[in-house]
Amino acid sequence: MSNSSDPQEVERYQQELNLLEQVHVALGTASKLDDFYLITASLLVDPNAFGYSRAFILRCDERCNTFIGRVALGLKTAEEDKEFRNSLMEETLHLQELVKAIETDSGEAHAIQPLYDLRYHTLWIEMLQADSKCEDFNLAFRDVSLHRDGLPSNHLLEIAATSTRASLIEGDGALDGLEDFISTPCVAGRLITRRGLHGIVIADCSFESDGMDEERLYHFQWLLNHASVTLENVELVEDLTATTIRLQEMDRLKTNFLSIVSHELRTPLTSIIGFVHLLLNEKMGALTRPQLDLLKRVSQHSSHLQSMVNDILEIAEVEGGGMVNVMLEHVDPLEAFLSVLPRVENRRGSRNIVIEPVLQDTVPLVWADQNALERVYYHLLENAVKFIPTEGRVTLEFNEHEGMLDIAIQDTGIGISEENLKKIFDHFYQVDFRLERVYGGMGIGLTVVKLLLDAMKGRIRVESTEGQGSRFILSFPVVPTGRRG
Ligand code: ADP
Repeated sequence: MSNSSDPQEVERYQQELNLLEQVHVALGTASKLDDFYLITASLLVDPNAFGYSRAFILRCDERCNTFIGRVALGLKTAEEDKEFRNSLMEETLHLQELVKAIETDSGEAHAIQPLYDLRYHTLWIEMLQADSKCEDFNLAFRDVSLHRDGLPSNHLLEIAATSTRASLIEGDGALDGLEDFISTPCVAGRLITRRGLHGIVIADCSFESDGMDEERLYHFQWLLNHASVTLENVELVEDLTATTIRLQEMDRLKTNFLSIVSHELRTPLTSIIGFVHLLLNEKMGALTRPQLDLLKRVSQHSSHLQSMVNDILEIAEVEGGGMVNVMLEHVDPLEAFLSVLPRVENRRGSRNIVIEPVLQDTVPLVWADQNALERVYYHLLENAVKFIPTEGRVTLEFNEHEGMLDIAIQDTGIGISEENLKKIFDHFYQVDFRLERVYGGMGIGLTVVKLLLDAMKGRIRVESTEGQGSRFILSFPVVPTGRRG
């Protein structure tokens, strides 16, 4: 706006601002493509906004090189137009009175105006779509399809599709195939997004006395710019929604798959473990030393496999809406540690790793589930050992405060970066995803830990420094009287 204090100029500026606000509010409500078409077209035919007689949006389908009619709003004759506008105006006055009454009561003029605009647009769309009197002139979602190859270069659609700015169309023949919806003179311009040409918007002024001028064209182009930005957002939201639905479906299939596979694996594994147990106990006859050693390894590996299968099954069950079953009782946390220690020591291989608790006078009993706590220990200790490359130390330390017992499992391994610390509890997440990665594992240990702790009402937090080591701290409520000497 210039600095002029010309009252006409000031009024024009005010009108433009109102229009801008109206467009923003109306377009801002579009979250689906069909809503977007209706809102854009209704803004064009709304006498309080752009005031065109009719508006029409054609989608451009680049696959089949065709323009396809999506929405047309408008009336066939000037009489119908007049009647329609009169009834709309009555409704509008009524709405305006309501808004005034609320404003006077509450003084919230700014909050009310957008609501009014929104309501007004909804009303316009409703009337065009639903009022039985509107049936013959409501052309929304009419079927029109014009193949681009057959269009002459002076056709309105070709002119609009190839011009960067909106055009004023007057010539004969420019409307071939669209005569039912629009008449000349009209304005036409393109809706364009990052994906390319989305469609063409056309509006005519056939029932208006003041006709077309440069200012109308300027405002029309201005609407197209706003509409294109909104359209891009709507496309993004639609894409995201479709992707989310697809991912949810894939996630459901994955959970089903995991649950079926682990069920199927569990049965033969149980038999293997049972038979190996029989052989190891020499129920089928005496074994030589080397046979016994080999069978012991088979037994260890199949037990490890069994616990992995159980972990996957547990995750699948919880994801499918089930629960982890735990029974809270008085548990001695040091004893639970000592009972998993031999299994963890087996995981050291030839590396020189010391695993030991920091000795303390007393360790209180905690509220937990014995079996679940052992599984939590196993996963944390297994990781602590796994991520120490050659030699190091894993310690377990108890610290009681304010009715809680903190159990810290600390290692001198490779540590975890700050960025990865946020993700390690997600299932199947591993800092090193490569197939040729150095450290094995499925990326579910910490997920199981989290599930078990949630079920036991325990907590976990982690501190780590890359290259120096990690410290996982568990917290459980202490049993008030239980003391272990
Ligand atoms: P995984 O079977 O891969 O060990 P987890 O869920 O137990 O799966 O752990 C997820 C990831 O968190 C691991 O792949 C590893 O990158 C990281 N991580 C877990 N514990 C430690 C640790 N003590 N030291 C270093 N990295 C760890």
